[in-house]
Amino acid sequence: MPEATYNVVVIGAGTAGLVTAAGTAGLGGRVALVEAKKMGGDCLNFGCVPSKALISSAKLLDRIRRGREVGLSEMEPSFRFEEVFRSMRERRARIEPNDSKERFEGLGVDVFLGRAKFLSPHEVEIDDGTRLRARNFVIATGTRALVPPVPGLDRVPYYTNETFFDELDRKPESILVLGGGPIGCELAQVAGRLGIEVKLVELLPRLLPRDDVEAGEAVRKRLAREGIDVATGTKAVGFEHASGRTTVTVETDGAKRNLTTEAVLVAAGRTPNVESLGLEAAGVKFDRRGVKVDDTLTTSQAHILACGDIAGPYAFTHAADYQARIVVRNILLPWFKARASYRWMPWVTYTDPEVAHFGPTEEEARAKNVAHDVFRYDWEELDRAVTDSETEGFIKVLTARGKDRILGATVVGVHAGEVMHEVLVAAKHGIGLSKLSGTVHAYPTYSSSVQRVADSFQKTRLTPRVAGLFRWLYRRRRS
Ligand SMILES: Cc1cc2nc3c(=O)[nH]c(=O)nc-3n(C[C@H](O)[C@H](O)[C@H](O)COP(=O)(O)OP(=O)(O)OC[C@H]3O[C@@H](n4cnc5c(N)ncnc54)[C@H](O)[C@@H]3O)c2cc1C
Repeated sequence: MPEATYNVVVIGAGTAGLVTAAGTAGLGGRVALVEAKKMGGDCLNFGCVPSKALISSAKLLDRIRRGREVGLSEMEPSFRFEEVFRSMRERRARIEPNDSKERFEGLGVDVFLGRAKFLSPHEVEIDDGTRLRARNFVIATGTRALVPPVPGLDRVPYYTNETFFDELDRKPESILVLGGGPIGCELAQVAGRLGIEVKLVELLPRLLPRDDVEAGEAVRKRLAREGIDVATGTKAVGFEHASGRTTVTVETDGAKRNLTTEAVLVAAGRTPNVESLGLEAAGVKFDRRGVKVDDTLTTSQAHILACGDIAGPYAFTHAADYQARIVVRNILLPWFKARASYRWMPWVTYTDPEVAHFGPTEEEARAKNVAHDVFRYDWEELDRAVTDSETEGFIKVLTARGKDRILGATVVGVHAGEVMHEVLVAAKHGIGLSKLSGTVHAYPTYSSSVQRVADSFQKTRLTPRVAGLFRWLYRRRRS
């Protein structure tokens, strides 16, 4: 039975909703959490977790195929497609209990399974007729795959992230991936490594458009080398399906051609889950990007907050977690509201090479006239990368021009996500490259590339005057 009035009713049990519910209950609040589909939301069920599990299998396949680079005999690993997917689901199931109804009930949260809808600014109704009232509401309904309005797409079978991990029950001979963002690139590479013939179609001129240009290019080169047919600057303009095959008409620079494929994966962006939520009845403003919030994550109604993908501006699990913590605090202490800041928001794309980033890219810094310097260190020079035969990568750090202040960084290569965090922590806490250069890094780690790039900054401090002074000192000591 629901409480007469909750402190908080949370709609959506993805990362944003779960963290809000657990945080509020942990501080002693009475919370109801409503979930329409699966506890855990996208990240656990159709996103980060299953994709990273498949990526780990696919990475090993690639590593075995490249065994010759480290002295092994050439070999083609043997595997069963269905078994790789089964193992992915098994690994996902190991994480599932963390987000389960039982666990959250154990934390003191009242969990309701069903679709919630606002009846008024102070009441929601679940589709079984249960009504919940609360002092505050949190909208955490996330996003889903955007299916672009391409003629014929609605009449052909296709996968999205919601079906790919559970309904692809046998290996298709070929797949066309629509979209060259992080999800499209990660899953295209997985599919290719699992022996599927892959075509990747991206409308924009490059892959991973939010990342550094060089990073997107490194991923494009690698995908192409692994046999994926990458078509950037290419628009899908029509879909047709006959005899188990889909024909996709694509257009590049005005020229049309047909691509045929057995399966299609739509990874062309995300659209917010704002429909049938009764946002109009609640008086909550929204647009095609999601629910509108200010930097305290408050919607147009002071007692209704929103967090996670539905609130934007970033669609990452760690962004949802960050915002949910702010929401918990702002509901408890509305007189001293915390404000969300995305200045140091990192992200990682788990392709090979991995791409990790925070802060402005070089292109953004140029476009916004931010005076900056760029320091770059190529992993061709990095001993550990050479010993592992993983030299495809680099680290690039942007600093304020002429100053030892880090603005952002991009790391490309194996374990790039782990390496990037050292620079992120330094940047956020005002530690400059000279201090990173002066910190002993264990040899031979990938992280020592941070020290190397910092060394290149230090060298710029050796001005001709200082160099002249040093030469004079050496001369004196010799005489
Ligand atoms: C393939 C893929 C890979 C990804 N990989 C990564 C990654 O590696 N790292 C990363 O940081 N991010 C990744 N993401 C993004 C990440 O999954 C999302 O940013 C994160 O899940 C957002 O959490 P959320 O709580 O805002 O929304 P969601 O996880 O989408 O949860 C929202 C929940 O609300 C429920 N809901 C919707 N409407 C209602 C309603 N009316 N009533 C009740 N419940 C409702 C939904 O069913 C859903 O469970 C990936 C996403 C995808 C698709």
